[in-house]
Amino acid sequence: VQPSHRISNINSQGSDGWEVFLRARQLMAEGHPITELTIGEHDIRTDPSILEAMHASATAGNTGYAMVPGIAELRQTVADRVTKRTGVATTRDNVLITPGGQAGLFAAHAAACDPGDRALFLDPYYTTYPGTLRSQGLVPVAVPTRSKHGFQPQLEELDQAAKGAKSLLINSPNNPTGTVYSRATMAAIAEVCQRHDLWLISDEVYDTQVWSGTHISPRSLPQMTERTLVIGSMSKSHAMTGSRVGWVVGPQEMITHMINLATNTTYGVAGFVQDAALFALRQGTDLEQKISAPFARRRDIALDILKEFPKVTAIAPQGAMYLMLDIRATGQSGFEFANRLLDEHQIAVMPGESFGQSAAGHLRVAMTIPDDAFGAALRTLCLFATQLADG
Ligand code: PLP
Repeated sequence: VQPSHRISNINSQGSDGWEVFLRARQLMAEGHPITELTIGEHDIRTDPSILEAMHASATAGNTGYAMVPGIAELRQTVADRVTKRTGVATTRDNVLITPGGQAGLFAAHAAACDPGDRALFLDPYYTTYPGTLRSQGLVPVAVPTRSKHGFQPQLEELDQAAKGAKSLLINSPNNPTGTVYSRATMAAIAEVCQRHDLWLISDEVYDTQVWSGTHISPRSLPQMTERTLVIGSMSKSHAMTGSRVGWVVGPQEMITHMINLATNTTYGVAGFVQDAALFALRQGTDLEQKISAPFARRRDIALDILKEFPKVTAIAPQGAMYLMLDIRATGQSGFEFANRLLDEHQIAVMPGESFGQSAAGHLRVAMTIPDDAFGAALRTLCLFATQLADG
């Protein structure tokens, strides 16, 4: 017997993009000292006060099946938060609590698309996007964005690709580029979605990490509330990556369909994890700012260092916890450079190619280690790139 085409096709396009990361982890397991700047994992752990809330909930007996859509208080708190941040009246019936943003991405596409549908996403992209689409039998269509446009998608290209498509997945603030989509970009996206009758799936898991510009949730644009599904998560905003808690916000009918999906897949999120998320959200923006502050600081450190290395160019990240470096002057691909940097300098970064062809010749550097070590590693990287560029 054979596995389904759908499941064996998830990574069938060759690389899944994680090779350098996996090699770094292997070297670390063997005892090599590696400076790890690959995945989007904070260097702090979940705040002890959140863990105490989780512990108190679990020891109080909250270890049984939780309500599949999410506990009422958490759904309401997420709804209030979205209303406050976007101005769009949102109720708990517009919210499904999911085991992280990733499960939300899966649920949203299941709700929006049927097998065989063309599902658009923007390149460079978060590595799981094409696999998430293929795992549902969708046809992933990557729409390129370019560094010369600051990786802001362009109306004409979107419009071309949208013919016959069913959905468009966007991510702002963006992983891996750090781009925050401007009001004009969001307006263009809304225009294309309306013209071609697309569902817009807006991945906003970095919405608390904005360094310049303003984050606009496209659900708040005219006529977009009814065709937008927003993905949110506690992973990045509250350093709760391992807790697996996030949400989808959208029209009530779509949430009802996704609750049916959750009943038949995840069966919800652990009650004590939801209570911890509730506690964390109730701490307000002070805690979010405390968690995002190190990335803002390291972004400034990086931009200062980069001034000394004209062969390595970066688009100043407007948001999120990464730095995209253009190393094309070295003549190496991002993949070649990242492998050499790992072997010759024991520094692990993600090759741009892991995030699509539009990021070829780039590196994504996660700003996720203490400031001094981060600055030192970036300096080593830039020196190495400069040596290669100078032959
Ligand atoms: N979306 C983006 C753009 C991400 O970078 C990530 C994680 O790195 C996720 C979604 C998934 O996050 P989680 O499932 O931990 O909420």
